[in-house]
Amino acid sequence: MTSSEKLFAQAKELIPGGVNSPVRACLSVGADPLFIESASGSHIKTVDGTELLDFIMSWGPMLLGYAQPDVNKAACDAAAKGSSFGAPCALEVEMARAVVDAVPSMDMVRMVSSGTEATMSALRLARGYTGRSKVVKFVGNYHGHSDSFLASAGSGLATLSIPGTPGVPEETVKHTLLAPYNDLAAVRELFAKHGDEIAAVIVEPCAGNMGLVLPAEGFLEGLRAVTTEYGALLIFDEVITGFRVAFGGAGSRFGIEPDLTTLGKIIGGGYPVGAYGGKREVMDHIAPVGPVYQAGTLSGNPVAMAAGLKTLELLSKADYAGLEKRTAQLVDELRAIFAEKSIPVCINTIASIFTLFFSEQPVTNFASSQQADCERYSSFYRQMRAAGINLAPSGFECSFTSFAHTEEDYDKFLSAVRKVQF
Ligand SMILES: *Cc1c(COP(=O)(O)O)cnc(C)c1O
Repeated sequence: MTSSEKLFAQAKELIPGGVNSPVRACLSVGADPLFIESASGSHIKTVDGTELLDFIMSWGPMLLGYAQPDVNKAACDAAAKGSSFGAPCALEVEMARAVVDAVPSMDMVRMVSSGTEATMSALRLARGYTGRSKVVKFVGNYHGHSDSFLASAGSGLATLSIPGTPGVPEETVKHTLLAPYNDLAAVRELFAKHGDEIAAVIVEPCAGNMGLVLPAEGFLEGLRAVTTEYGALLIFDEVITGFRVAFGGAGSRFGIEPDLTTLGKIIGGGYPVGAYGGKREVMDHIAPVGPVYQAGTLSGNPVAMAAGLKTLELLSKADYAGLEKRTAQLVDELRAIFAEKSIPVCINTIASIFTLFFSEQPVTNFASSQQADCERYSSFYRQMRAAGINLAPSGFECSFTSFAHTEEDYDKFLSAVRKVQF
């Protein structure tokens, strides 16, 4: 038995499924999870001493690579001065300034401790601001695990084929209206029927939780137009795309100003941070200025703020165009390898994100993502892992490159792919 297997056996006795977040269990790819001892740059090291080249990057946060020395130092320096105050500190102001300066649609921002809290709070604010109850979400989009959003969500629910979840009252999800991703006509139909009851449309501007699915031409513009027309808010859930598809996120990349934006993952630099923000007029409805309550004991935590702030500072000087170009090249090389092997694939990519679907058709929404061959992905995943490459343990998640990945890493990845047996 390996140390990972031993730990997993113990974990299963103590933690449901042996994991603190479902996809980590690797169930859908027929493998046991690897327990990680440490990580640095583009590599992780397991408790058995095996080094793997990684393309999960903690599901997105580690855009600068694992254990980035300057980020580590910032966090350690902050911790030495006290790890939590429950009172305001200067770092929160600096962090708010950095986020507001980077994201064009944000006048103000509130820090929370996870992406789930960010989207949950943004929805409450949208409801409080508009005095309406309903929210439009897209099938296969994932906005964390708060009740309202657990209707036809992506991520672990897609991986484990859980359509919704027990524990969420029907009365709650009845306010969640669903439309297929990239289907503007369906959204317009919902507004024609329920226009004066819809508080907000929430969308992943590039969907990342059914694998990567890009917005069709005019889709995001259309959402901006229809929400404005009916007096509903447009919420961009940029927990993955924020500081990833561009420094200013998808809103800045596509030139669209949502009313509210949610952030997470990258802004914490590996620590638990989320944020939501937007127009001053809307944000002024949050307590203590306004009546919409939202709070958090560890919100604006100084260690997390220091790590996040240093991460943003380094990213503001990073070569996003170069990383995007290199990732696009990698995807081209992948397509060529699979063409040679006569294995049908659809590889969606933007910036430093890509998803490889074993699919004969383009993947443009949840239904088409589900056509992908999961068994082939599982076999691919296991062979790649055996070759020392760590990919997402599900065909419905994103793979991420980072500023820490090197030419040698990309070569190693491609030569491992060439050796996979189908
Ligand atoms: C990961 C994710 C969330 C949830 O963030 P947590 O920090 O896991 O709570 C919300 N929205 C999107 C788009 C995500 O990818």
